[in-house]
Amino acid sequence: MSDPVLATLNLNKSFGALKATDNVSIDLKPGEIHAIIGPNGAGKSTLIQQICGGLRPDSGQVLLCGQDVSGHSTQARAQAGLGRTFQISQLCMEDTVLENAILGAMGAEGLAWRFWQPALKRPELRDRAEAALERVGLSDDRDICCANLSHGQRRQLEVAVALTLSPRVFVMDEPMAGLGAGGSKRLTGFLDGLRVEAPILLVEHDMDAVFALADRISVLVYGKVIATGTADEIRASTEVRDAYLGD
Ligand code: ADP
Ligand code: MG
Repeated sequence: MSDPVLATLNLNKSFGALKATDNVSIDLKPGEIHAIIGPNGAGKSTLIQQICGGLRPDSGQVLLCGQDVSGHSTQARAQAGLGRTFQISQLCMEDTVLENAILGAMGAEGLAWRFWQPALKRPELRDRAEAALERVGLSDDRDICCANLSHGQRRQLEVAVALTLSPRVFVMDEPMAGLGAGGSKRLTGFLDGLRVEAPILLVEHDMDAVFALADRISVLVYGKVIATGTADEIRASTEVRDAYLGD
């Protein structure tokens, strides 16, 4: 069995009396898509934020390629190979598609925001950004202002921004959110191809996408992982049906 590329060990995070993640231990193996599902407020985004460094756990560890990155900044984790997309868009709406992608490429090189203007002119950053846009099919839209993109195109751009890092692992928080059937189908196909490059930890409400993509699914309810298994195992679990999937 290959070693996990990403693992959490007993992650705990409380907000006051609320346990948002309760001893969460999950892992992600090479080539795998591991989906995290669960009702609103279950702690999915809190988990993702602890993995990516935006929130410090009360206790527990995050391992990236075997290395304990628990104390590392978001930036250090990104440079160590953790690529992510957000539940709430982090794109700069007044800037163009290409400029947003270049901003991502700057992050890959550890360049701070204030170097943005000179970075726009650096060919190696531009090449990296253009290659990522090409991958998601946004090359022709490179000069469009981000505010004028459709919702689906913004989601594609977010994936492109993450791709500029050439990540070893992807962590995605609801990438299908707000996409129509066509958009979800396209993104599902794209993620399916992406897993060979870097495995994906996928938080997603779109069950068609989850069941189509996930090698394993973990179900989070009130901060606890109540089940982990294949799509068939999760569908067949009465506990999961009662807590989340319904009939
Ligand atoms: P999910 O992504 O599964 O919908 P979240 O991780 O966003 O759930 O939230 C888990 C719980 O933690 C919710 O009850 C939410 O209200 C609470 N929560 C999340 N972030 C904070 C915060 N910064 N301060 C206080 N409570 C929070
Ligand atoms: Mg969430």
